[in-house]
Amino acid sequence: MTAPFRLAVIGMGKIAHDQHLPAIADSKYFELAAMVDRRGQAEQGVPFFGSVEDLAASDLEIDAVAICTPPQVRHDIAQFALERGWHTLLEKPPGATLAEVVALRETAKDRERTLFTAWHSRYAAGVEPARKWLANRKIVGAKVTWREDVRVWHPGQDWIWQPGGFGVFDPGINALSIITHILPHPLFVVKSSLAIPANLSAPIAAQVSLRDRLDVPVEMDLDFRQEGPQHWDIEVQTDAGVLKLGSGGAVLSLDKAEVAEDASELRGEYPSIYRKFGAMIRAEVSEVDVSPLRLVADAFLCASFEVVDEFHE
Ligand code: NAP
Repeated sequence: MTAPFRLAVIGMGKIAHDQHLPAIADSKYFELAAMVDRRGQAEQGVPFFGSVEDLAASDLEIDAVAICTPPQVRHDIAQFALERGWHTLLEKPPGATLAEVVALRETAKDRERTLFTAWHSRYAAGVEPARKWLANRKIVGAKVTWREDVRVWHPGQDWIWQPGGFGVFDPGINALSIITHILPHPLFVVKSSLAIPANLSAPIAAQVSLRDRLDVPVEMDLDFRQEGPQHWDIEVQTDAGVLKLGSGGAVLSLDKAEVAEDASELRGEYPSIYRKFGAMIRAEVSEVDVSPLRLVADAFLCASFEVVDEFHE
């Protein structure tokens, strides 16, 4: 039997605790060897370090890292990790800019390490069946509705409102990671309208129109100001009826019949990510997909900007 890879998790915030730690604990590929954050302390007897430099200076043996920090600091940490010879998993979004991720891809190639842009929403229960079903259909159009209450889902996350923090595209990029996976042709941004609170630097809402080369339209409605019912829904109109992906990709329905469900929040996504990361390290390959990030960048490039009311948490 092969020994598990010794993994350090970097950025011990919400997603590291909610999803990464349980998935690593259940993984046959990985063993949690270290935690890194700017603040904090050892948990569950696992060694804790205040920076990747401190981790590297210790005598701890590390094979791989999962970087779960906010995107603004991710590139430098990933570059350091790859140079140390550590295989690297990047939480979404894989960087604050496209160029950063392309540069990391080159480093991973030069150093012969695995680099994985882990788009977790692609592993939601309904997504793969949706991709397969759509592959044989004529697609007429699609609509994405991603409306959530930022106060509920991102409390205290000031980084989201700073440059490079993505604002409403922080969750919105999950929808883009799904549609770039399930729709058969590459998408282009046609126009976008971004609403920026007067006191902040990132959009609180966005309307984005896209199309593919066959002129199939895709409309996106993203909003962080949603109260009451929350929406993470994708609807694709086809010549064979409407396909709906609800709950962030977990629930697939066709003609009102549900065909896949995973109502327990994100149950299968992170175990799938770690299975894939482990298998990729063993196979000595990388997966660096920037297509969702490219569309966010293009939504900013094509944007008309509207300054809206200040937002205070
Ligand atoms: P978070 O709760 O703010 O956690 C981020 C953690 O990273 C914090 O503990 C932060 O420490 C730490 N950190 C910041 N700079 C660091 C550095 N230079 N070195 C080490 N640690 C550093 O944010 P989150 O919700 O977990 O999100 C993190 C990433 O995961 C984002 O890219 C987000 O898009 C993605 N993600 C989040 C979710 C979700 O549901 N929350 C789901 C999927 C993916 P400080 O507190 O000291 O700043």
